[in-house]
Amino acid sequence: MIAAACRRLSQTVARASRSTRPTAARMSPRAVAGAGDPSPARRKRAKREHVELKVEHASDVASTPPSKPTKNGRRVSTSAVASPPPAFAPPSDWRETLAIIKRMRAVGGAPVDTMGCEKISEDVAEDARGRRFVVLVSAMLSSQTKDPITHAATARLVAHGCTPENIAATSEEVLDELITPVGFHARKAQYLKRAAKMCVDEHGGDIPPTVEALMALPGVGPKMAYLVMNVGWGVAAGICVDVHVHRIAERLGWVPSVATGENGSPKKNRTPEDTRVALEGWLPREEWVEINPLLVGHGQLTCTPRAPKCAECELSGGGGGDGKGAALCPSAFSWNGSETESGKKAAREEKE
Ligand code: SF4
Repeated sequence: MIAAACRRLSQTVARASRSTRPTAARMSPRAVAGAGDPSPARRKRAKREHVELKVEHASDVASTPPSKPTKNGRRVSTSAVASPPPAFAPPSDWRETLAIIKRMRAVGGAPVDTMGCEKISEDVAEDARGRRFVVLVSAMLSSQTKDPITHAATARLVAHGCTPENIAATSEEVLDELITPVGFHARKAQYLKRAAKMCVDEHGGDIPPTVEALMALPGVGPKMAYLVMNVGWGVAAGICVDVHVHRIAERLGWVPSVATGENGSPKKNRTPEDTRVALEGWLPREEWVEINPLLVGHGQLTCTPRAPKCAECELSGGGGGDGKGAALCPSAFSWNGSETESGKKAAREEKE
């Protein structure tokens, strides 16, 4: 019985071996001729033949139209090569639009012009390191808070002693009292104390010098990090996109009409980060720092989230200008009574 089993097993192994062994019928004549021939020239020929067979097979299976032959005559299927999304081209007249916004903003009068975080830091700290910390604190207080309230709260912290060492040594309760009524003051008091301690422990009493390290501080997102790099360090590391910049860039057509997700598919709602990346793709770097206060002020005075004052805006031909901006804003007089979904989402996220 054991002998019979062994015989059956050996027959099975022999059949399996026959089915996997290359035969002359399966091999090309050249491959057959080259089999067992160790000469380098034959090995090279056999290798080339193998590559050619593989390429032909791949194009058969893919059923895609053959691409143009490359220099060496091979055809490569294009189905596996993802085509990059087309680069976004801003409106050809963006320079005229920007020039008119600068002209409208030259008269000032927006809260950001006197109470932005860079303004208070100019007067309050004696040295550059102290000013940088005040810029960071003011930026942290500013989310979901109007500029006058942020300005007043920062002034109270400055009077208290706005250094990393002193803020780290102050209790959360006292910090909370000092910064009330800024939005989310209790949470921001926690963040301030922890961020000040990190500045002392990890950065020698200074603020972090990179976007990544700034974003490692509690309560600091990309918008604040780029603002602090621009204002605190004087480095145009990126564009600070807040809700005003986000909204106005969309209204002016300065970002693609549909944002692209990580996998290349369209995204339902554009985030401020999408807007930052899109703007940085074409706006010259020398405009990166100024674009924030320009658009923030324009958004505070004229291009407001609700009911933008298009009749007073030169980009619609109004506002007492010379009429040259009449056709520059694709969104002029088109406000339909509600904010865009991405604008509302950006405002919600800034709250969190
Ligand atoms: S025309 Fe209206 S929508 Fe366009 S930028 Fe001016 S205020 Fe904003």
